[in-house]
Amino acid sequence: MTTAYVNGHFVPMESAMVHIEDRGLQFADGVYEVVACFNGHFLDMQPHLQRLEQSCGAIGITLPCTLDRLAELVEETWRRNPFTDAMVYIQVTRGAAPRAHLAPDNLMPTLIITSADLPKPSEAKLAMGAKAITLVDFRWKHCEIKSTALLASVMGKQEANRRHADEAFWLDSEGHVLEGCSTNIFAAINGALVTHPLDHQVLGGITRKMLIRIAHDAGIEVQERPWKLDEAGLTETMLTSTTNAVLPVCIMDDQPVGEGVPGPMARKLRELMLEAMDALRAA
Ligand code: PLP
Repeated sequence: MTTAYVNGHFVPMESAMVHIEDRGLQFADGVYEVVACFNGHFLDMQPHLQRLEQSCGAIGITLPCTLDRLAELVEETWRRNPFTDAMVYIQVTRGAAPRAHLAPDNLMPTLIITSADLPKPSEAKLAMGAKAITLVDFRWKHCEIKSTALLASVMGKQEANRRHADEAFWLDSEGHVLEGCSTNIFAAINGALVTHPLDHQVLGGITRKMLIRIAHDAGIEVQERPWKLDEAGLTETMLTSTTNAVLPVCIMDDQPVGEGVPGPMARKLRELMLEAMDALRAA
């Protein structure tokens, strides 16, 4: 049985509850984080907690504890659950109050933390690459905030699943690739690694940042600029996220990307990223 942290208490998952008038439930008035942990060592814990603080700040929620205390609670939640490679989920909502759009002042935010087995791409997916579809972006205009309001992303994933794909890539009205429903997207174009620049249309992924650093260290040119799937010289696409690390995407809208199999840049970058994770496991 797993244990969850809810507003100051560690409780069995079955009895972990929040109020039915929690604004997270009523308005999706909250933000969240997902942090990976390998054998007790968290991958980029501080950047995740800092992004949570930024997301809270962007919607006017004050975190109910310091970042140091939050890190302790995250570590304690991991310790109380038996997963070697874990995914720790943190959610902060504005709190519980009688339902009205405008929240009362001085609400006590809700803080919940859970830990689960870290989901990983299957061997088949790693060998063949993932499949994606494209959709014109119909999300809100603050994608830089890691909001729990994920209905558009849920609908995108449903459509991808209906079309036997793993992910939907959001395109702007001109056809530039922004990001996926729960991933950042990169392309190999004329030997460079290209991804959309950080703005209100994409989440600043922690794995995105890690991949950029790894590519840079490996001597691969990185370009943060708008790009399209039909751009000349595009040979590969790949996605990044905490749960996927970096994963090649080889079929797009039922057509092969490049050779239609994982390409050399994605394979190299995945190898380098897994090395960093193995080093954490062994630390
Ligand atoms: N973009 C979106 C919309 C996401 O929801 C996520 C993760 O949930 C990402 C990108 C990847 O972010 P990270 O690498 O921090 O997991």
